[in-house]
Amino acid sequence: METFVIVGAGLAGAKAAQALREEGFDGPLVLIGEENHHPYERPPLSKKYLMDQAGRDAAAVHPGGWYDEHAVRLRLGTAVTALDPAGHEVTLADGERLGYAKLLLATGASPRRLPVPGADLDGVLTLRRFEDSDRIRAALSRSGRIAVVGGGWIGLEVAAAARAAGVEVTVLEAADLPLLRVLGPEAARVFADLHRANGVDLRCGVRIERLTGAGGRVTGVRLADGTEIAADAVVVGIGAAPNTGLAVDAGLDVDDGIRVDAALRTSDPDVYAAGDVANAWHPLLGRHLRVEHWANALHQPQTAAKAMLGQRAAHDRLPYFYTDQYDLGMEYTGFVDPDDRYEVVFRGDVQRREFIAFWLADGRVLAGMNVNVWDVTEPIEALVRSGRAVDPARLADPAVPLADLLSTGD
Ligand SMILES: Cc1cc2nc3c(=O)[nH]c(=O)nc-3n(C[C@H](O)[C@H](O)[C@H](O)COP(=O)(O)OP(=O)(O)OC[C@H]3O[C@@H](n4cnc5c(N)ncnc54)[C@H](O)[C@@H]3O)c2cc1C
Repeated sequence: METFVIVGAGLAGAKAAQALREEGFDGPLVLIGEENHHPYERPPLSKKYLMDQAGRDAAAVHPGGWYDEHAVRLRLGTAVTALDPAGHEVTLADGERLGYAKLLLATGASPRRLPVPGADLDGVLTLRRFEDSDRIRAALSRSGRIAVVGGGWIGLEVAAAARAAGVEVTVLEAADLPLLRVLGPEAARVFADLHRANGVDLRCGVRIERLTGAGGRVTGVRLADGTEIAADAVVVGIGAAPNTGLAVDAGLDVDDGIRVDAALRTSDPDVYAAGDVANAWHPLLGRHLRVEHWANALHQPQTAAKAMLGQRAAHDRLPYFYTDQYDLGMEYTGFVDPDDRYEVVFRGDVQRREFIAFWLADGRVLAGMNVNVWDVTEPIEALVRSGRAVDPARLADPAVPLADLLSTGD
């Protein structure tokens, strides 16, 4: 039987192996990953694992024995260095070549580096892997103060973990608010207030000139206005770039990720892509979208597996993500193009951080974010999927059940 190969042994890769077996594929299946760990989930790396409240096992996608039990040949510590779509072959770092009938690229993304002098000093850290989280945890245990560059999700979660460890934290954000592009000013302010209330020195609208150092180690950050911020370590969280090198060299269509259709098929009919690396056509949203979230890497592989087996499949789940920071838990469902016009409607108590925020365009709900309010993902998803206009006043009224907004023809 012909071999299926998955490149990238992260969440998407491991879930693809599972989905292929569940869909009845019983041929040879190889899962290749350059890390030396069994596939694991990354969200704990900036939360419980970083705070030493959970170990590595808790992050495993499957128990260690699962791969043998399902005849998945796991090749860890092995990078794929080339892809030849015409020859149906990948090359491994040691020169070995491996043929495939169908291939899935699940190579994820890598942290962006800070493009300023001093970015390579010791003590300048990024966060993607277990080892990165270990290094940040060690830095927190021996540092009095750290600087976090970038007020995105990972930067803010690291800031929260650092505060929990009693470390002084300065967060440096180029925009006027953290998370401004993703959430817009109304909801981004909630996170700015949250961090300030927890003792973070949050500085927005800043430009970093360089990282300062002594003896090869970072000592702080110098801003363009001349301000110096002392720090024993600097965590850089300025986003991630999709790992598209193999696809680019192989001549596949690449544009902010590997371009795939709704079935997650690339421009080569036998090569698929899923997870952080895939820029997929979303049938419901009517556009290509690259989603860097856990739920996407969890679910897209089911579609890819079906399509690899010749079944009709389309990934049309709405983007979903979550965060935990201090005593705030949040889920976000839907998608808002930051460049489009929208209004924000709040339901609940924003001051107490117990609310749902809705993003609307022409009265239709594009997305909802529930903060310390639970079990509402389904109705939020139904509101978004319905595409129906709702009355903003009723949407804002917690006395009106969300389901009623759908059923009453609002
Ligand atoms: C610190 C952190 C916290 C996060 N928290 C949240 C959260 O709270 N909520 C949320 O929704 N999402 C969160 N995410 C995002 C989520 O973890 C990612 O969306 C998810 O990991 C993507 O999975 P993936 O399998 O596509 O990629 P990855 O998990 O990056 O896995 C890709 C794997 O492929 C390997 N690889 C790459 N190139 C090659 C090659 N050429 N050969 C062999 N192997 C290769 C990589 O080394 C890696 O192991 C977080 C991410 C990080 C880093």
